[in-house]
Amino acid sequence: MIDACSLEKKRLLTLQEALDSITTQTARVTDTETLPLTEALGRVLAVPLFSPINLPYDRNAAMDGYAYSSAENALTLTLAGTSWAGKPFVGQLQPGECVRIFTGAVVPPECDSVIMQEHVTVEGLFIHFPADAPPLQNVREAGEDIKQGEQLCQAGKKLSAYDLGLLAAAGIENASVLRKVRIAIISTGDELTELGQTLSSGNIYDSNRYTLNNLLSDPAFSVKDLGIIPDDPEHLEKCIRLAAENFDVIITSGGASVGDADFVKDILARCGTVSFWKLAIKPGKPLAFGNIGRCQFFGLPGNPVAVAVTYEQLVAPALRKLSGAKELKRLRLHATATSPLKKSPGRQEFLRGIFSQDEEGELRVTSAGRQGSHILSSLSRSNCFIVLPAESRGAQIGDTVIIEPFDLLF
Ligand code: AMP
Ligand code: MG
Repeated sequence: MIDACSLEKKRLLTLQEALDSITTQTARVTDTETLPLTEALGRVLAVPLFSPINLPYDRNAAMDGYAYSSAENALTLTLAGTSWAGKPFVGQLQPGECVRIFTGAVVPPECDSVIMQEHVTVEGLFIHFPADAPPLQNVREAGEDIKQGEQLCQAGKKLSAYDLGLLAAAGIENASVLRKVRIAIISTGDELTELGQTLSSGNIYDSNRYTLNNLLSDPAFSVKDLGIIPDDPEHLEKCIRLAAENFDVIITSGGASVGDADFVKDILARCGTVSFWKLAIKPGKPLAFGNIGRCQFFGLPGNPVAVAVTYEQLVAPALRKLSGAKELKRLRLHATATSPLKKSPGRQEFLRGIFSQDEEGELRVTSAGRQGSHILSSLSRSNCFIVLPAESRGAQIGDTVIIEPFDLLF
């Protein structure tokens, strides 16, 4: 059986074509702000940062033990003092001497080696070394991690906990980051009901704003929930026009198709420019993309799973680019299907899957359940998309398929 939606008169756009079109029309934000490191997690670095100091700052010990010169011939050296972390040995080491040293403490300039304390015998002030003590061990050279002036992080880096640790190690207190991308989300539909209100027949609770709000939970974004707007074209247009003046991006869900109550595309055409696509993907066929002045507009389909797929595949890459972060790809892996996967040829399909790893490290994936684009429970159960190409006729148990684990980008 051929997928009915693929039999449209006009060729459906591939996901890649849509993505290319969206990303070429997306410009990075340029305004910056300076933040202390404590507020910089997840923000996008505006300029590269260079280290004002060597890392490590000093030559120091990698072990607790004894610092000595490998030029010494004697197997017994005399203890001249101690170098503590934060309290270096002061004085000049004489030939025949060594220094008690602890991890992170400055290695005296006369020394080039540290022997582990477990490898020596201590007899008062006399330290007996083994004949086969390997020289030049356990010394961390100044600047061996990062040299003074070397780059710590490049512009466009979305600052991670590890980045912030690195910057702190270099003594950097503040970072210049790109401003947050301002995003407004709107749900449209006469049937949509707010949480807390009683549901009447024919109505549904608005779930898409909860999905979107949380998918958008990112320190590089500031998100405003503009609520539910009914299928009233005048009111919807007024809200969209106003939002376009105040946000970088508007994301709507619902009303994006070509039914009598689907106004989003026409409103976008009246207010700005529209690229309306029927995409060759399932779920997520209709998508209205365009701009109103400087504001980018994504009119997503209403079905909750279509929202998830179009957000992940099209909106998220555009938002990452807009935020100034460097381009990331979704990780795709091969996994063995452990349940049959039904599909008709026609559109690229994103099935909800549950992947796991067996004892040999092999990835396996099973369908997360019913695959209708309104089935939220299988979306909630899933931990990956199973990506089946347009021409695929599904998969049998034992077939290798491509999966995209959620949240794995590189
Ligand atoms: P539409 O794109 O407006 O034709 O909506 C397609 C389907 O998605 C319909 O079944 C809607 O009731 C449903 N839908 C639209 N908006 C939402 C929403 N915010 N939350 C949950 N379901 C929605
Ligand atoms: Mg609707």
